[in-house]
Amino acid sequence: MALDPIPVLQSTFGFPDFRGVQRQVVDRVLGGRRTLAVMPTGAGKSLTYQLPAQMLPGTCVVVSPLIALMHDQLRAATAVGIRAATLTSADDNRAETRGRFLDGELDLLYVAPERASGSDFRELLSRGNLSLFAIDEAHCVSEWGHDFRPDYRLLRPLFDQFPDVPRLALTATADAHTRADILEQLGIPQDGLIVAGFDRPNIRYHITPRDQGTRQIADVIAATPGPGIVYVQSRAGTEKLAEALARTGRPVRVYHAGLDPAVRQRNQHDFVASEDMVMVATIAFGMGIDKPDVRFVAHAGLPKSIEAYYQETGRAGRDGDPAVAHLFWGADDFARARQRIGEVEPARQPGERQRLNALGALVETAGCRRAMLLRHFGEQPGDYCGNCDNCLSPPNAVDATELAQKYLSA
Ligand code: ADP
Ligand code: MG
Repeated sequence: MALDPIPVLQSTFGFPDFRGVQRQVVDRVLGGRRTLAVMPTGAGKSLTYQLPAQMLPGTCVVVSPLIALMHDQLRAATAVGIRAATLTSADDNRAETRGRFLDGELDLLYVAPERASGSDFRELLSRGNLSLFAIDEAHCVSEWGHDFRPDYRLLRPLFDQFPDVPRLALTATADAHTRADILEQLGIPQDGLIVAGFDRPNIRYHITPRDQGTRQIADVIAATPGPGIVYVQSRAGTEKLAEALARTGRPVRVYHAGLDPAVRQRNQHDFVASEDMVMVATIAFGMGIDKPDVRFVAHAGLPKSIEAYYQETGRAGRDGDPAVAHLFWGADDFARARQRIGEVEPARQPGERQRLNALGALVETAGCRRAMLLRHFGEQPGDYCGNCDNCLSPPNAVDATELAQKYLSA
């Protein structure tokens, strides 16, 4: 008999209904089938394991790449009455958590991937009762993904020790190649793939060659009221730009991994609470931050890949209201990226080069930016969105091509 998730959805989570493909994913998981769900940021991936974790007997083990992320999830789950814990080096109640797991008192157990390799963790799991393995940010398992984490490769051998426990892999960012790789690396069948729509119609995309100085970013800020994020490639770059942008009169904060953790946390907190703040950050900022009213995301330089661009710009407009994404790029970005590719291990170079070329095609296109983005994620959009720079004011195609050829050749 099929389990009905709706009553739990409403009583525990307080949502009247599922969104998008959530129902499809939850039904597969409740049916015990291995699944990879590719759903954009904000689509509600957490629910697709939290809900089955509430309904199935035993504990759902959630693999997550960042301790900060885990603690956010833990807080949110606990707030709705889910029995959850994290088991990380940052927790001093590990013995208690192990006990709760063994006593069947946990619905969710969050762990980092490096824990999976330990024989004591395997031993712990074998003595308890498991409902599900959930793998968050599953693109980390793939060298084709933009954020490869070797520890994710240790998950498959662990999961294979528990072949009857279903697996649910989740990611917001996976092109066709990465998807196929995730399925293979995690032992999920091809028909276990569920892909949600990637379009974010309320985000307007602008991609522009960069001028000297900070005027372009200052213009974006002046033209766009409401909170915004400016992504800068280097830590030093964030500090410098923030200083310049302070002159716009908007409150500005900085976020990068080199800051003192207390400062970082305070800046993040200020930003989340603010209605007009500009966060100047490296890509260390954003994952797991739930701020629906971000009105703009500006890239002061080339992102790492189309996946990264989509994910970073996707932090704008999660409330569905109009938002804008600006990317300012220069020839030196491509030169630096090519140089970096030359330095990575040879086996990874073709993938990296392909990623850079895809990004080059996106910045050079005279066609619809959204169409190109969505095609990258395997969708078949029309070729006019009416809400990107090229649709709104068609460029001089000859100029755009010449410019890009100059940067992409060599
Ligand atoms: P993701 O991990 O896909 O980026 P989250 O799991 O963090 O997304 O969920 C994003 C937001 O959507 C959260 O605030 C969550 O409470 C909300 N949400 C999830 N599912 C639903 C639903 N069915 N109805 C309404 N809101 C939902
Ligand atoms: Mg998530």
